[in-house]
Amino acid sequence: MVNCSICGRPAVYVNRISGKAYCKKHFLEYFDKKVRRTIRKYKMFGKKEHIIVAVSGGKDSLSLLHYLHHLAERVPGWRITALLIDEGIKGYREETIKDFKRVTEQLGVEYKIAGFKEYFGYTLDEIVLMGKERKLPYQPCSYCGVFRRYLLNRVARELGGTVLATAHNLDDIVQTYVMNIINNSWDKIIRLGPVSGVSNHPKFIRRVKPFYEILEKETTLYSILNNLYPKFVECPYAPFNIRWTIRRMINELEEKYPGTKYSLLRSLLSIIEYLKKIPELSKGEVKTCMICGEPSAHEVCRACIYRIELGILKPPKEIIPILEKLGVKIPSGAVDQTD
Ligand SMILES: [Zn+2]
Ligand SMILES: [Zn+2]
Repeated sequence: MVNCSICGRPAVYVNRISGKAYCKKHFLEYFDKKVRRTIRKYKMFGKKEHIIVAVSGGKDSLSLLHYLHHLAERVPGWRITALLIDEGIKGYREETIKDFKRVTEQLGVEYKIAGFKEYFGYTLDEIVLMGKERKLPYQPCSYCGVFRRYLLNRVARELGGTVLATAHNLDDIVQTYVMNIINNSWDKIIRLGPVSGVSNHPKFIRRVKPFYEILEKETTLYSILNNLYPKFVECPYAPFNIRWTIRRMINELEEKYPGTKYSLLRSLLSIIEYLKKIPELSKGEVKTCMICGEPSAHEVCRACIYRIELGILKPPKEIIPILEKLGVKIPSGAVDQTD
């Protein structure tokens, strides 16, 4: 049995890099210090903020909501609202919404649930089926990622948020980093920093990741110690994702060579600095989508492109040449002929 390095009580956590062990009380202190240090180091929040916390209903986002709620009690200028995106995944989302409501009500935090159905007219399950019927080359996680990101920004802004906090932990970040290396997506790697979305587009909400330097096992333990750990329900689309294999590989490396995850994070932060010096990557100015008016990397945003390809959005005919230039496959008969 291992004892706490500070007080000698039974330990609940051992930091394998420093060799220090912590009891429940001292683990929570260690966790709090580490997150506050991350927030300070990357200047995530100002004195006056309306923080929108993106909550998926999983352990990490419930932990982030719990953590920021308690931190905000000590900062008079902060207000917290929880935001959950309901993609409409049968057998998965219903359960997580229950956990979400239980935790927000317990904490007394305001919340908003925004659904794919309500904003796009279709659930993710329906979208995945339509994509298959139309033989589109996308995985469920691609639709989900694009539509979720779109809604998080739009709804956070509609709620009057000044900053959007997401619960990505160190493990998530380094997994995405490795995935993007495999896909040769340097334009995505440049956006993997602790603070993103810093642009002068008036509709863009700044994004921060307060758990950027926190290991997944630490956020998991925080959720267990605070009674936040949800009933384990896995997203039914997860096995389609390459992330699960990469996650296992990185965990094996960490097991053999403790500190691998932090090394990967340092590697990522250096790469981002190098990439920022490449004009084609760093000067990707934010445009405004010609269809929906949301911030976008191209003349038409990815969410609108997916909707056009799925046949659920008719593009105005003057935009057709631009869509063709972007390589969008426009379904026949999908063009809006009205003037
Ligand atoms: Zn202790
Ligand atoms: Zn758009």
